[in-house]
Amino acid sequence: MYTDPDGRIDILSLTLEELTEVLIEMNEMKFRAKQIFSWLHVKRVTDFGSMSDLSAQLRQKLDEKFCIKSLFIVKRLESKRDNTVKYLYRLPDGNHIETVLMEYEHGNTICVSTQVGCKMGCRFCASTIAGYKRDLLPSEILAQIYTAERDSGRKIGGAVLMGIGEPLDNYDNVIRFLELLSSKDGMNMSLRHVSLSTCGLVPKIYELAKLGLGLTLSISLHASDNKSRSEIMPVNDRYNIDELLKACREYFKITGRRISFEYALIDGHNDSREDAVRLAKLLDGFVCHVNIIPVNKIKERNFTSDRKSAQRFRGYLEELGVNATVRRTLGADIDAACGQLRREYEI
Ligand code: SAH
Repeated sequence: MYTDPDGRIDILSLTLEELTEVLIEMNEMKFRAKQIFSWLHVKRVTDFGSMSDLSAQLRQKLDEKFCIKSLFIVKRLESKRDNTVKYLYRLPDGNHIETVLMEYEHGNTICVSTQVGCKMGCRFCASTIAGYKRDLLPSEILAQIYTAERDSGRKIGGAVLMGIGEPLDNYDNVIRFLELLSSKDGMNMSLRHVSLSTCGLVPKIYELAKLGLGLTLSISLHASDNKSRSEIMPVNDRYNIDELLKACREYFKITGRRISFEYALIDGHNDSREDAVRLAKLLDGFVCHVNIIPVNKIKERNFTSDRKSAQRFRGYLEELGVNATVRRTLGADIDAACGQLRREYEI
């Protein structure tokens, strides 16, 4: 159980079963747990005082025993082009994270952060440059969705774990977040509408596979050989491409879910026809999809690319029989790529 410095339990991180146990320990009726869980995860109140069908005495007791994590919206940037909204949230301890709400044909999807900063050190990524501070609690990942839904008035049907942080480096909290997100008594989001993106922490991919969740695994591959991958992604020195793809095969074997490979295109680094040929060879026999992303420019680095290069690279892959798309650029006018806004607020 997660507790605040003042000893109060983080109630939004508790599963219904755990909440039931604590309430029984408090000599409360079992059915209260479901009622409270619904106030938190369906009606989404942020204080116990609003739980109007509970006695004043119980509300007081709950307030002493638990805290409800909530996020403060520091900044809201709205794209005029495509309804993308980017939020900069302040956490209760003063740290900042980013969340992006995106509109697709099939509905609204949210991109959530899983850590304050990141340890992985990918050269092209702004989240790493601002430094790692701490892991997010399950409640703090969930609250990004609840707060955005409340603020925007838009129903959110899908989530991608592609914001700040490496989800598999905060494994336990992320798994618990997924459990809460998909809880029938809570938000009830199908994990088929959730994608988890990782830079490739191989042992955790095996662990995740064993859970057999319905989510889509996205692998940030970004290169077709170990040398060029290590140059931009230090994690490749721990788990190389062979080990990573072996884990992906196993993941597919166990879950039956098609893998999505992310490929951030960087001009002059990984965009040649030879790269495409090597990539096609690596992915031969895989049930997968390649998502090409023209690299987002960040201040500290000279990496560039554009949609034209991305389309060209997609053409190469298509000729080679690899299923690939160029990711739609959403929120281009508000700099919606993650990690950039937070930096302005962290010293
Ligand atoms: N740590 C996880 C998830 C967060 S990043 C991961 O590495 O997958 C989400 C995606 O954005 C990853 O594919 C990441 O490599 C990519 N990304 C990060 N910075 C980028 C940039 N400047 N341009 C394009 N893609 C970027």
